[in-house]
Parts: sequence; structure tokens; C-alpha cells
Amino acid sequence: METTNVKAYGTASADAPLAQMNIQRRTATAKDIEIDILYCGVCHSDLHTARNDWGFTTYPTVVGHEIVGKVTKVGSEVTKLKVGDFAAVGCMVDSCQTCDSCKQDLEQYCSNGFTGTYNGKDKHLGGMTLGGYSEKIVVEEHFVLKVPANLNLAATAPLLCAGITTWSPLRHWKAGKGSKVAVVGLGGLGHMAIKLAKGLGAEVTLFSRTPGKEKDALELGADSVIISTEADQMGAVNGKFDLIIDTVPYIHDINPYIGTLNTNGTLVIVGYLGGIEPFLNTVPMIMGRKSVAGSLIGGIAETQEMLDFCGEHNIVSEIELIKMQDINEAYERMLKSDVRYRFVIDMASLK
Ligand code: NAP
Ligand code: ZN
Repeated sequence: METTNVKAYGTASADAPLAQMNIQRRTATAKDIEIDILYCGVCHSDLHTARNDWGFTTYPTVVGHEIVGKVTKVGSEVTKLKVGDFAAVGCMVDSCQTCDSCKQDLEQYCSNGFTGTYNGKDKHLGGMTLGGYSEKIVVEEHFVLKVPANLNLAATAPLLCAGITTWSPLRHWKAGKGSKVAVVGLGGLGHMAIKLAKGLGAEVTLFSRTPGKEKDALELGADSVIISTEADQMGAVNGKFDLIIDTVPYIHDINPYIGTLNTNGTLVIVGYLGGIEPFLNTVPMIMGRKSVAGSLIGGIAETQEMLDFCGEHNIVSEIELIKMQDINEAYERMLKSDVRYRFVIDMASLK
């Protein structure tokens, strides 16, 4: 298969900083769209993958799955977009499209395994897929999204992961007018969860362990803020919430949050991936028919629905635009929760 050499930023091992490298992109086939990447958001999953936190990174890796760019080529069968249009790509670039999940527009739960935008098995070139910290990407039409014309392009990039990952549980658990939603952690996902839940009409509360973020949370649309380390503040919201979206990336005690769920309430974990410690107390769950659930990104149709909703409601991410060369420093700042509230790479800095 013919390929083109493009510039990217990646890493060859878990402890090496990200640096410039060259990668290959396939020449667009009949069903493909080639995109010149303008902006790429920086997700905490990029950091987890670059540093092999989850233990399944194949190196060298190029991460990045909040991609916005301009279409530079389309295959002969492509109808969704044309050359010159703005386009977006999120966390998936392929799935079997024939299993029950795919047929229900839930490609993220493809029973044959979806292909991640990075660190997934590349069906075209072999090896692993390489993500958006690069000049160009070639993606099958089905997995490319349309960008609403009124939105700022750089601030739209984080919608492709932080946006859809919080939108999907809000929609699945039917958040809207009259529902009480809480968000744990005010980072990339957390700030989008507040904006989207508010946009859907819910009453929104932020749980944060960081005093000092209250003003921002209220400006983003939260109705109240609870400092999760303060027992009296936690007690004041006992039994309150219909839905809690927990975006914390690292292991933490979820029991205190279960106490703040209403009867039939659900705590959805989207952040931490792995075993829960120190324990999960089933008593409040059984006594109040409460659920603890997980949720993974969102399907392609649902991602387009979220982008269109953001277009209609003028919702974008709060961003700090960085140069590609600043990425290692950005990761260190993300680890210290020092980001308000998403880094986005201006890909012009790589060209
Ligand atoms: P982020 O911007 O770093 O935000 C995480 C927030 O969690 C921080 O701002 C902080 O908020 C809180 N936090 C961080 N470390 C914590 C700790 N040790 N204990 C308690 N709270 C802590 O990260 P993100 O990009 O939003 O991603 C969040 C997580 O979601 C990551 O693990 C990422 O891999 C995962 N993710 C999952 C999916 C999915 O499909 N399920 C998709 C994308 C990302 P406060 O300062 O307010 O407490
Ligand atoms: Zn992500």
C-alpha cells in the first residue's frame, strides 16, 4: 500500500519524553478522507498511553484523539465531506460495523474490538495506529465527523473525547430538566460534563478536591461546588443526585459518592480504569437501588449529535493553546491539575 511520510510527535518508551519523528500515512482509498490536522486536544488518556500507565502501549506511539482539521483528499466513494471542509476525528478510526453493538451505533462497544485512533491494530498498514499529534491523518469516512460552522475550531477539538465521553452517560441516563447531576473532578472531562449537563437543563454540582476552582465551576455553569475532602460539605448533599459522573483518573475511594446518590441513582465511572480499592460497600447500593456503572466514549452518531448540540448551544471547551514542542511540560502540568481546562496543540507549530 502506498504511503506518505508525515511529521509527528511521539515516544519510543514509557520514560522518554515525546519528540519529533516521521510516520507513514496510507494514501486515501475509495472510502477514506485525508485530513490536514489543525488542532489536537491533549487528553489524560494520551498521558496514560505515552507513559504505559495501563500496561498495553506498543512503542513507538503517537497519541492524540481530539482532532480537528481540513479535508485535503477524499476517496471516490466518499459523500459525507469534500475537499476544503472542516472535519473532526475522535477516539475511534474503525470497527467491524457488523456486530450487534456496531449496528446499534455503539461502535465503542464493538464485540470484535474497535480500532482506537492510537495504539490500536492498524488494519491497513499493520502495526499500531498513530494518533493526532501529527500533520495529517487518513480515516475511513464513517469515523469522520462534521464540525458545526459557528464553533471555534481549536476549542472544538476537546469535544471529540472529553465532550463525547461525558455526553454519552448524560444521554444514556437521561439527564435533563429536573435531574440533579454531579461531576467529580474539574479537568478536561469534568468541565465539559458541567457545560453539557447544564446545556441539557440539569441542576449541576461539582465535587472537587481542589479549593480555588469554585469560581471557575460556577462560571462554567455549575449551580454549586462541594469540596470532597470536607465531611460537612459531603454530608449536606447526602441522597441528592440522580447521576454522578466520576472523571478522576487515578484510584480513589468511591464510597463517599455513593452516599450522595438518590434512590435509583447511578455513579458512572469514566476516569479510573482498574480494580477498585479499598472496597465497595454494597449496603447503600442495596438499600437504595443504587448503581455503579462505567461508560466508554460514545458512538459515531452520538458524537455527531453532541457536536450538533454544541453548535446549537454554542458550547466549546475552555482551552490553553500550546505549541507541539510544549507537550512534555503540558503533561507535567496536567499531573498537577494545572490546566484550565484543556490543552490544545496548534499543529501549525509542527509544520
Ligand atoms: P484531567 O484533565 O487531568 O482531569 C482530571 C481531574 O480529576 C483533575 O482536574 C482533578 O480535579 C481530579 N483528580 C486528578 N487526580 C486526582 C486524584 N489523584 N484524586 C482525586 N482527584 C483527582 O483528565 P481528563 O483528560 O479529564 O481525563 C480524566 C480521566 O478520564 C483519565 O483517566 C482519562 O484516561 C479518562 N478518560 C476516559 C474516557 C472514557 O471513555 N471512559 C475517555 C477519555 C478519558 P480536581 O482538581 O477538581 O479534584
Ligand atoms: Zn481522551
